[in-house]
Amino acid sequence: MFTLKNKVAFITGGNKGIGLGMACGLAKAGASVAVAGRNKDMNEKAAETLRELGAEAMPVALDVTDASAITEAVEAVVRHWGHLNILVNNAGMTVRNRPEDLAEEDWHTVLDTNVTSAFLCSKACYRHFKSAGGGKILNCGSMYSLFGSEWVPAYAASKGAIVQLTKSVAVAWAKDNIQVNCFLPGWIDTDLTRMARSQSPQLHQRVEDRIPVGRWGEPKDLEGIAVFLASPASDYITGASIPVDGGFSAFG
Ligand code: NDP
Repeated sequence: MFTLKNKVAFITGGNKGIGLGMACGLAKAGASVAVAGRNKDMNEKAAETLRELGAEAMPVALDVTDASAITEAVEAVVRHWGHLNILVNNAGMTVRNRPEDLAEEDWHTVLDTNVTSAFLCSKACYRHFKSAGGGKILNCGSMYSLFGSEWVPAYAASKGAIVQLTKSVAVAWAKDNIQVNCFLPGWIDTDLTRMARSQSPQLHQRVEDRIPVGRWGEPKDLEGIAVFLASPASDYITGASIPVDGGFSAFG
């Protein structure tokens, strides 16, 4: 039920952090994995990590804000392995600023990276999923899909939008046997949150005190949801958004 043998996965932002954690989960379950990001050295390093787990892996240089590059990258993966079954839309970034100070350019960069890319990657994969008889799309949300904060207006808008994009694509492609779901990571120890914690020194402890399981998450905490949402185990689940947060969103 959970095997991904003979499946091919394409994961944006797969070269570090949460994306690499998920890529490791997919690799251990038997998938061949293409890791896409802008940093070629990091892509190659991540692919090597996956090969050490016994998987086939392919580094793909890609800026997800470049629409034509997305199509080329997806086509290259299909040329390499002959088919494509799983897309993880994980690439993301933030610009921390209050709404009154946030530049319009920064707004667009965050929305383009975090949500428009998921739309474009999904579109580029659609015909390949159809010819494979189905597919799985995993979109990356956040606690900011649920909550707001004065420091992340663009980020929260993008992570709210991806929940609604997930539902719409799930409905549109359900008859094609394509399941589309969103995972909502809680507070995970990565470069992204290290940057936030360096800008806001109390953040680490404040978050830890509020997490019912009592610790920050690690990228490996996302391995399980990656395998579940990519595998036949989740075939009757589509359009859902699932927190992976140590209970953070359950705590009032
Ligand atoms: P990291 O900063 O560790 O990783 C971000 C990844 O996204 C990198 O692989 C980076 O690769 C890639 N990326 C960023 N911009 C682009 C771009 N324009 N084109 C292609 N790839 C890009 O962050 P996380 O692992 O923490 O974040 C991963 C996802 O998880 C994001 O969507 C984030 O919003 C989300 N998230 C994170 C949480 C956390 O607590 N860490 C909580 C909730 C959600 P490269 O630089 O090589 O392009």
